[in-house]
Amino acid sequence: MSETTLRVSKIKDGTVIDHITAGHALDVIKILGITSRVNGIVTVGMNVPSKTLGLKDMVKIEGRELKSQEVDKIALLAPHASINIIRNYEVVDKQLVRLPKVIRETVKCANPVCVSNSKEPVKSTFYVDNEEPLRLRCHYCGYIMEKQDIPKQF
Ligand SMILES: [Zn+2]
Repeated sequence: MSETTLRVSKIKDGTVIDHITAGHALDVIKILGITSRVNGIVTVGMNVPSKTLGLKDMVKIEGRELKSQEVDKIALLAPHASINIIRNYEVVDKQLVRLPKVIRETVKCANPVCVSNSKEPVKSTFYVDNEEPLRLRCHYCGYIMEKQDIPKQF
């Protein structure tokens, strides 16, 4: 099988996450909770040439359709990603990720003394202060997390 065939090979059922910002495929896998113990084939493409992005990453997950809450998480890392749901080799749904205004229970506050990092039963909550470049503001302590800080906080 040639390299080109491998790249475009279709999956029967599952999700293809395309147009991930190059360098973020593994972060996307991490926030989706995909580990080596998960059943099913996961294919990762990194630094794939793209007409619109120059280089992009992509992730194919066989046998799993992403829920919209999971899709929103991906927007934190890859604001240009597109999500294709595949059934029986056909794309049945294609959507672009979109950033919610409020991010709950997804990322941890980078401020170690924030109440959301204590044992108190509070759920992490952030407001999107700016989309591009991404900047999040903690609901509890007001701490600002910049784009480069966010992948470490999942
Ligand atoms: Zn905080």
